[in-house]
Amino acid sequence: MSGEGGGSRKGEGEGKGVTMRVEVDVPKCVASGQCVMIAPDVFDQNEEDGIVVLLDEQPAPELHADVRESAVVCPAAAIRVVEK
Ligand code: SF4
Repeated sequence: MSGEGGGSRKGEGEGKGVTMRVEVDVPKCVASGQCVMIAPDVFDQNEEDGIVVLLDEQPAPELHADVRESAVVCPAAAIRVVEK
């Protein structure tokens, strides 16, 4: 068993543990901007039409909660989160 929640070291250990991959189904996006408000480091919106732009396909662990919430609130269900 490896410890959970204790380590504060960053750097070499990153990339191990839980990784998250984010996928957006761009054609489904209705440009509501919810995801951008919740996780602006991960999602952006196209300036012209407001359609989602994925900034970070593999967000850092501290962003995972926000990304999950974005996926839940997205009115178009256009955000898919894969965790392993
Ligand atoms: S929350 Fe969903 S519909 Fe709204 S901009 Fe983001 S991906 Fe598009």
